[in-house]
Amino acid sequence: MRILIAGGAGFIGAYLCERLVLQGHTVICVDSLYTGTTENIAQLIPHPRFTFIKHDVVNHFDRDKFDKIDQIYNLACPASLVHYQKDPVKTIETNVIGTKNLLELALHHQARFLLTSTSEVYGDPEQHPQSEEYWGNVNTMGPRACYDEGKRCAEALAYAYHIYHGVDIRVARLFNTYGPGMQKDDGRVVSNFIVQLLSNAPVKLYGDGRQTRCFCYVDDMIEGLLGLMSSHCTTPVNLGSDNEISVVELAQLISDVLNKELAITYLPALIDDPKERRPDLSKCQRILGWEAKTSLRVGLANTAAYFKAKLETQELLSVV
Ligand code: NAD
Ligand code: UDP
Repeated sequence: MRILIAGGAGFIGAYLCERLVLQGHTVICVDSLYTGTTENIAQLIPHPRFTFIKHDVVNHFDRDKFDKIDQIYNLACPASLVHYQKDPVKTIETNVIGTKNLLELALHHQARFLLTSTSEVYGDPEQHPQSEEYWGNVNTMGPRACYDEGKRCAEALAYAYHIYHGVDIRVARLFNTYGPGMQKDDGRVVSNFIVQLLSNAPVKLYGDGRQTRCFCYVDDMIEGLLGLMSSHCTTPVNLGSDNEISVVELAQLISDVLNKELAITYLPALIDDPKERRPDLSKCQRILGWEAKTSLRVGLANTAAYFKAKLETQELLSVV
């Protein structure tokens, strides 16, 4: 198949590109390099079945320039709070105009379209765990709104193209995903805590640390995305781990894995930071027969080893 991956040079996108090329598909990676980097896809660039196109999805696609496309994955959007809040208007445009452009491309090519939506569509949830039927509790006027409402609108657009134009859609609601390949300045909690501990610095914790998340290892997430794309399900599906842990417990676990002493600097809680989050995974288990398999300890050890090697190389380079 010919598969277009928007956001393919990002953290999750690069894994997806590699996996699909290895499966024998032709992959077209479209990315503006806003948070992604060609380093993530460097090993794929010489591959004859891989093409990288630097393009901002907000800009018009010349549809006729592409040979037939069979599937489109839309991952284009900064996922970390630090990056999506830097330019909130751009984040909304990426989610709304970018998703519309990609849906138009899907319509033109009769391609199946998968949107990577997010657990943030549930906002600071009043239902726990969060099932796909829950409509969410999102502040339209807060600092997370550009991302949360952007993704909610992207889902609504996908639904509208499905209903009115017959586009074959899939909607994955991803919960927190981590692993090797994240940028060291990505800004999300796992990479921040690992980099801080490896630098013998205190971890910076927002709020009292009792807020919870469930962390899914990236390899597991890729299986979930591929499974959903191959399924017949056109309604939203939660993908992630349901192993719930508080942020202070996460800090402790990472310090154990790294065998580093833990010091914590407590900072004020972030505005609208969800207090608890855990997916109800019964739908994806029923429909896809999928569940995350990697234990948090093993996943964190792999991620920590990746950052350790990366930081050591950078230190060596800065000495040379
Ligand atoms: P990431 O920031 O590493 O990757 C996003 C990619 O999209 C980057 O390569 C970036 O350059 C590209 N991009 C951003 N704006 C673009 C634009 N206007 N045009 C073209 N490319 C653009 O993030 P990630 O963690 O790999 O997340 C991938 C997708 O999954 C995102 O859509 C994100 O919202 C969603 N998601 C991720 C998580 C997670 O925990 N990682 C959780 C929920 C949802
Ligand atoms: N967090 C933290 N220190 C950091 C980064 C994040 O205490 O350096 C907290 C953040 O306030 C949130 C949780 O960790 O409660 C997860 O944050 P992240 O940005 O990784 O994911 P999201 O909030 O989008 O789920």
